[in-house]
Amino acid sequence: MTDVLTERDVTPGLLSRIAVNATPLRPTDRAEVAAQLGRVPRGLVGIGARCACGRPAVTITLPRLGHGEPFPTLFYLCLPYLVKEISRLEARGEMATMTSVLSDDAALRAAHRAAHESYIARRSLLGDVPEIAGVSAGGMPERVKCLHALAGYALSAGRGVCPLGDRALDLVGWDGTTCHCEESPASRDDETSAAAH
Ligand SMILES: [Zn+2]
Repeated sequence: MTDVLTERDVTPGLLSRIAVNATPLRPTDRAEVAAQLGRVPRGLVGIGARCACGRPAVTITLPRLGHGEPFPTLFYLCLPYLVKEISRLEARGEMATMTSVLSDDAALRAAHRAAHESYIARRSLLGDVPEIAGVSAGGMPERVKCLHALAGYALSAGRGVCPLGDRALDLVGWDGTTCHCEESPASRDDETSAAAH
């Protein structure tokens, strides 16, 4: 008996309930994500969103990894040029700006909290992991701590679910109809701020 689905149990129908833009793994995705992240992805069960070229842009990961570790981060940005663009936002202080906007805007605060609840509900479709009950990602429900996590969530779930993730994508001019991968190769490691965290 297990409290979490295995990689085999994750069907296309289930993925589409987790996020409207989610798609099943394609044969090349694991190798592609490994190259993007610089490590073999564990617990990878789907792609939350893709670049226009088809490369994975967001990973979907099981809430409990193979060795039993709880893993709260359901959606994570993996597309190198977008990771880098979001890192630039963080480097210029956008998280502090969003946090101060949050404190001044009750409606946005409520939406950020609703995004948190929705994140947990989506993840629970893959199983319940008591160690991370009530924990989402990116600083939700009250703070803004990682724009990569919020942007990955927003990209997967579609507009109107995670408002601060939507805002981050707007600020970097994300356009899902155009591939920018070749303009900013992953190998061009020219900024320490490009590292995801
Ligand atoms: Zn691309």
